[in-house]
Amino acid sequence: MGSLLAATASFLDARSQDVPWYLRIDDIDTPRNVPGAADDIIRTLAAHALHWDGTIVWQSQRLAHYEAALHTLNTTGRTFYCHCSRRQLRGITVYPGTCRNLRDPEPETALRVKVADATLQFIDRIQGRQQNSLCETVGDFIVKRRDGLIAYQLATAVDDGSVETTQVVRGSDLLDNTPRQLYLMELLSLEPPSYAHIPTLVSANGQKLSKQYHAAPVDSALAGENLYQILCLLGQNPPAESGFWSCEALLNWGIGNWSIDAIPAVKTLAAP
Ligand SMILES: [Zn+2]
Repeated sequence: MGSLLAATASFLDARSQDVPWYLRIDDIDTPRNVPGAADDIIRTLAAHALHWDGTIVWQSQRLAHYEAALHTLNTTGRTFYCHCSRRQLRGITVYPGTCRNLRDPEPETALRVKVADATLQFIDRIQGRQQNSLCETVGDFIVKRRDGLIAYQLATAVDDGSVETTQVVRGSDLLDNTPRQLYLMELLSLEPPSYAHIPTLVSANGQKLSKQYHAAPVDSALAGENLYQILCLLGQNPPAESGFWSCEALLNWGIGNWSIDAIPAVKTLAAP
């Protein structure tokens, strides 16, 4: 339900401005890919009449783009090899720069990007002004993992910084990632999108409602009811009788009446 909330908000925001809405599957973290998860997403969106434009973008098919970005970072001296073991880094949230001046990569070495001592700022369309010093919050962060996989931050920065991506609407659980992605876009001379981080749906005990936390899957047989609830959660105030409408009718109402300012400017919302 949490993922469907974010998808619906993103869909309505795009459609109300008459811009294309794309579906991208972030599947580069291959060890963590759950078989059938992407199919579930695709089926759930279709069952709720959330139809995307163009073809689905699979990050696993865009590795050449991420490697090219890594090459740019490497050749401009922005990265360094990190030899720290998992044990050395246990309990550390801000990387202390241990390997900044080491050379000679060993096999299976992670690659980190050097962060600048500066404050990053951006305006989120829902959460308002955001400020973050990467030095103080994360330090030099990983762009390629020791297992050879491209890091999530880099892949997302490359894709969200592409010319096709002008607006990102996603859950506030990703808000902490945005400064790292903006920083990478800056280093790669990519145009950042605008951001809107919608509240994350949480259960009564404060846990995020997503598959990761074993939340119940969305029941597509109740698609209309789900969308009605989502419009309510997003502060859109749908008419009471719309609880009985079709998905298409609900979405059309949502597009025509879309107000991003009505979304509560909070980080989490309790699920109904
Ligand atoms: Zn290190």
